[in-house]
Amino acid sequence: METLNIKGMMKNKYLSKAIAKQCLYELKKQMQYKCEFNGIEFIEADKWYPSSKTCSKCGHIKPKLSLSERTYICEKCGCVIDRDYNASINLSRYGLVG
Ligand SMILES: [Zn+2]
Repeated sequence: METLNIKGMMKNKYLSKAIAKQCLYELKKQMQYKCEFNGIEFIEADKWYPSSKTCSKCGHIKPKLSLSERTYICEKCGCVIDRDYNASINLSRYGLVG
């Protein structure tokens, strides 16, 4: 699971409303509980881990990725992938490399 910089995100007037509605703390508690119940290790990624900026194919890290960019296009290996799918692949590997 990803640790989000909520404090920083709340400063963004476009994001703060959406985040307040999401009850992320409750979601995290539920995930932890479900993992424990099923004997799955719960791993929390570092707040500054660039899950969205990292190419899941070659590992290249983009210096900048704006929120409006919904598709990740890697300028190094040419990989074109959905932004959230790319980030989830990176997060799924986090415990293995981190
Ligand atoms: Zn790449």
